Amino acid sequence: MQSNGKHDLIKRACGFASPFRIERGEEFRLRDIDPGDTLHLGSEDKDRAREALSMGIELLAEFQDKLYAQDRWALLLIFQAMDAAGKDGTIKHVMSGINPQGCQVSSFKAPSPVDLDHDFLWRCMQQLPERGRIGIFNRSYYEDTLVVRVHPELLQQQKIPPELVGKDIWKERFRDIRHYENYLANNGIIVRKFFLHVSKKEQKRRFLERLEKPEKNWKFSANDIRERAFWDDYMEAYEDMIRHTATKEAPWYVVPADNKWFTRVAVAAAIIETLVSLDLHYPKLSKEALEQLDQAKQALLSEG
Ligand code: ATP
Ligand code: MG
Repeated sequence: MQSNGKHDLIKRACGFASPFRIERGEEFRLRDIDPGDTLHLGSEDKDRAREALSMGIELLAEFQDKLYAQDRWALLLIFQAMDAAGKDGTIKHVMSGINPQGCQVSSFKAPSPVDLDHDFLWRCMQQLPERGRIGIFNRSYYEDTLVVRVHPELLQQQKIPPELVGKDIWKERFRDIRHYENYLANNGIIVRKFFLHVSKKEQKRRFLERLEKPEKNWKFSANDIRERAFWDDYMEAYEDMIRHTATKEAPWYVVPADNKWFTRVAVAAAIIETLVSLDLHYPKLSKEALEQLDQAKQALLSEG
């Protein structure tokens, strides 16, 4: 990509990402973000947005190649959302240009008996990305402050000694998560968290589509409807979670998710914004290493 085109794209990316970046949790209110927001873009801009997205994806691939070559930083992208908000599709589209060797997706579903025999961060810790890689968590340890909070019987299953389960348990979990993410940042693992914010109305439309279109039937789960009944509890839990865990070193992006094309642009933009801030470059070789390359070249050229 031409460097002035790149500069322009990066500038535009920052413009799409920054309105949704939350770094100071205490000021955050969920109602300040409209799930239907598309910034200033209307549906007539969709094609241009798609074009920008594909350029963004190209740029991401370039950054990722440098991240890998440099082998210093790792990037952890966490996705949380209500059902049908578009986590899977966003991950699929935004990461479509990335070299699969440099990227790993981990999905966290209901915990297994082995998981429940450990602390709540344990299963996620094992899936952290290596240096040079991008790790994606499709759901994460944040579920332990969301679904587990909305359904207290799940907390019972976690086998925590009862004297440690008090009224401050969620505050304690948030604090532990903040410290943990701070620890990751201190180790060069950059954490960025995405809440794809869909409206209740749009979720209903997507569920109906899953029920009506045979090729989407497989996506439907009766459990999703049961969870929908707890919508307000979930929204409260999400808001409280973001208020307590959005920090400068590990911000949340609360991304409007009623329009899939916009969600994808905003998420790609946020990842670009993050990678730009790392000032990635290919490793510079020492004088000796360059001499060795030259010798190798001469040896190859002098072969019969
Ligand atoms: P998704 O719904 O993310 O697209 P899926 O439909 O393939 O994925 P599900 O079988 O629905 O997978 O698994 C996700 C479910 O696992 C969610 O309902 C989520 O709340 C639940 N889950 C994730 N982490 C936990 C946890 N720590 N404790 C209890 N339930 C959890
Ligand atoms: Mg599901």
